[in-house]
Amino acid sequence: MRVLVTGGAGFIGSAVCRHFVADLGHDVVVIDKLTYAGNLASLQPVAGSPRYAFERHDICDADAVRAIFAKYQPDAVVHLAAESHVDRSISGSDVFVKTNVLGSFTLLEAARRYVASGRDNAATEFRFVHVSTDEVYGSLGDDGLFTETTPYDPSSPYSATKAASDHLAKAWQRTYGLPVIVSNCSNNYGPYHFPEKLIPLIILNALDRKPLPVYGDGSNIRDWLYVEDHARALGIILAKGRPGETYNIGGRNERKNIDVVREICNWMDRLRPDGASHHDLISFVTDRPGHDQRYAIDASKLETELGWRAHETFETGIEKTVRWYLDRADWWEPLRNRVYAGERLGLVKS
Ligand code: NAD
Repeated sequence: MRVLVTGGAGFIGSAVCRHFVADLGHDVVVIDKLTYAGNLASLQPVAGSPRYAFERHDICDADAVRAIFAKYQPDAVVHLAAESHVDRSISGSDVFVKTNVLGSFTLLEAARRYVASGRDNAATEFRFVHVSTDEVYGSLGDDGLFTETTPYDPSSPYSATKAASDHLAKAWQRTYGLPVIVSNCSNNYGPYHFPEKLIPLIILNALDRKPLPVYGDGSNIRDWLYVEDHARALGIILAKGRPGETYNIGGRNERKNIDVVREICNWMDRLRPDGASHHDLISFVTDRPGHDQRYAIDASKLETELGWRAHETFETGIEKTVRWYLDRADWWEPLRNRVYAGERLGLVKS
C-alpha cells in the first residue's frame, strides 16, 4: 500500500511513518510544509528506506497537492498536517484557519478528483483517514466519556478549526462518496514531541532546573495516549475501518495535569538526582483562557470492532518518554536553542 501522509514531519506523523515503513511495510510519501513544528530529524529512522519519499509543500497549495496525487498514485491518505498547539491558536488563529480548514478542504478536493478520475489503483479501496482530536467535543464535567456520538462543542480556535475540518471530511464522504474515516484521539505524548507541549516542556525545564509552569490549579484532566499506540491505531483504522465511520482513540489514562508534572518530577529525581527535589520547581501560573476542564475517551468501538488495544499504560509510557528526552539531546537541543526556548505562549493580547 502506498500512503500519502500529510504532516509526516510532525510529532504523530513521524511516528506514523516510522510504524508504517518499519512494521507494516507500507510505502509512505510525506507532504509537509516544515513549519516550526516539522522536523526532518524525526524522520531520520526511515530516511534511507526505498519505501519513503518526502515532498515539501503547503497543503493549501492546490496545484502542488494535485501534482503529488498524480505523481505517486496513492492508495490512501492519512491526513495529519495541522497547526496543533492550542496556546498558539489563542494568540494567532489565522494560520489555524488556513491550514486546518482550507488545507483540509484542498486535500479533500484533490482526493475527490483523483478518485473520480479513476487514476487511483482501485477506487473502491481508496481511503482518506482524517486525523482529529477529542478536543472537538469540548469539556466534560466530573463524569462521563466522549463517544463517537458526543455533540461537537469546541472551545479554542484550535479545536474549532479541527471541528470544521471534521465536518468537511464527513461532508465529502456523504456528498461525494469519498471513502473518509475520521479518528478523534486524546492527548498524545512520547518521543519526538515538540517541546512547547506540556510533557516535553516539563522534562526539559526540569533538566535545566527552570520553573515548571502549571496552568491554574493543575486540576485539568487529560486522557494520555502514548504516540506509538496512536500510530498503531491509525494503521488498523486504515486497514479495517469502515468509510463513513468515526473512531475515538484513547488509552484510559486520565490524569490531572499536576499529577503528570509530579510523575515527571519523580522520574527526574530518580534519574537525575541533583540536591533539591524537582518538585520544588513546580510553579502555578495564570490559566489558559477557555481551558477545558476534562477530556476522557471511550475507545470501546475501536477496541471491539477493530481489535486495537493500547500497549502502554501512562506509567510505562512516561518512563520511556523521560528516558528518551534524557538520551536524545541531539534531537531537542537545536529546537530549544533556535526555535522555542520555553517562553509562555497564548496569553490574550488586547
Ligand atoms: P505537530 O504540530 O507536531 O505536526 C504538524 C505537522 O504538520 C508539522 O510537521 C508541520 O510542518 C506540518 N504542517 C503544518 N502546516 C502545514 C501545511 N499548511 N502544509 C503542510 N504541512 C503542514 O502536530 P501533531 O501533534 O503531530 O498532530 C498531528 C495531527 O494529529 C493534527 O491534525 C492534530 O490535530 C492531531 N491530533 C494531535 C493530538 C496530540 O496530542 N498531539 C491528539 C489528537 C489529534
